[in-house]
Amino acid sequence: MTCIDCGSSSFRLSRFRFSDLERLALLQYPVRCRSCRRRTFVGLPLALALYQARRSKRKESGVF
Ligand SMILES: [Zn+2]
Repeated sequence: MTCIDCGSSSFRLSRFRFSDLERLALLQYPVRCRSCRRRTFVGLPLALALYQARRSKRKESGVF
């Protein structure tokens, strides 16, 4: 997946809003481009992968 604005492939999960429920019903989750901060939607499996990547990164930083 790449940003339609800047072409970056780096995203993070965006804060979930009430208005996003419609998208969630379509199995899409909001994410934000790390480069240009554009908000967009990705499929739930991809959002889950982002979430897990974030968790594993936190683990590597030695919190545990
Ligand atoms: Zn972008």
